[in-house]
Amino acid sequence: MSRRPWFAGAPTRADFNQLADRLDWADEAETGVSSNVRKLYELDREQEREIARLRMVVEELTGLLVTAGVITEDALITRLEARRAAVSKSRAPSRPMVNCASCTTAVPQSDTYFSDLGEVCSLCFSG
Ligand SMILES: [Zn+2]
Repeated sequence: MSRRPWFAGAPTRADFNQLADRLDWADEAETGVSSNVRKLYELDREQEREIARLRMVVEELTGLLVTAGVITEDALITRLEARRAAVSKSRAPSRPMVNCASCTTAVPQSDTYFSDLGEVCSLCFSG
């Protein structure tokens, strides 16, 4: 169980909420702000409980898959790491593209130059 990297190492909501517990809510002078912050805090606590319930279900189900021989733990880890990498890659900011004002080729905006025609690619700018 301890090898499962998707639950290990990262700070949890509980870590953040323990930090929040140390804030002194009673001495907050701005009661309106304090009330709103408290609502957010309570919402965060409820989400933490929901995540804990979901985590328990996922741990049970993945444990069941491994125990039942549906998949080995190593294969499960490999699949989940590949999935996480794919999700991370899809969230990476893409470079904005523009069409060259001369040849209309789509090029990264960072690779364009301004000319009398507008933004043009490096080939059109130099040629
Ligand atoms: Zn061009």
